[in-house]
Amino acid sequence: MKKIGLIGGMSWESTAEYYRRLNEGVRERLGGLHSARVIVSSVDFAPIEKMQAAGDWGAAGGHLASEARALEAAGAELILIGTNTMHKVYDQVAGAVSCPVLHLGDVTSRAVRDTGLDRVGLLATRYTMEQDFYRQRLAAGGVESLIPDETDRADVQRIIYDELCVGIVSPESRERLVRIALRLIERGAQGIVLGCTELELSMQDGDVPVPVFPTTALHCQAALDAALA
Ligand code: GLU
Repeated sequence: MKKIGLIGGMSWESTAEYYRRLNEGVRERLGGLHSARVIVSSVDFAPIEKMQAAGDWGAAGGHLASEARALEAAGAELILIGTNTMHKVYDQVAGAVSCPVLHLGDVTSRAVRDTGLDRVGLLATRYTMEQDFYRQRLAAGGVESLIPDETDRADVQRIIYDELCVGIVSPESRERLVRIALRLIERGAQGIVLGCTELELSMQDGDVPVPVFPTTALHCQAALDAALA
């Protein structure tokens, strides 16, 4: 079993989910007392969030690149960036190490295509929804993405940063996310990508009448496929 390196802490609410899912996945696949070989390097999210808001992606990327180098030096054989948003600096991180860094956009587009779909609604942070880095990666994998209108995007952004990243999961916000997803489905989305690693703490498959693609769960499954291959 390969050792997985996880750059976490963005936020730690979803990193905890990664850790749990990686271990549950190994137990399901290998049984008994088997558990995941994983090293987590968990950053302090507050300064990173400030860099995001200031558009200082170069500095944020440099920070994550040094986390990746530290993970590799500690024995990581493959690396996960445990946040969709920070895939904005994927090239900087992947360029800093020689082991593979599993891109969440590739993992997600593959999962969508595997179910025979090619047009999804994307719920994520503003950065992920409004900038090109993630949607283009989905498009390169054959998946078109629709994003909510401005008001709904502001709502999703608020729910992620002001609630889910600080451990607040409310039924009101879940209903709000579902209504936003339903509007995307009305516009032609055949599935909904939960393109932020905290969203699946709130919304789940079955909440809407189309398949839901939870990126934390998908990233963990892909990492285990690679680690146990
Ligand atoms: N975890 C989130 C994501 O998947 C948002 C937090 C962040 O900005 O990194 O995008």
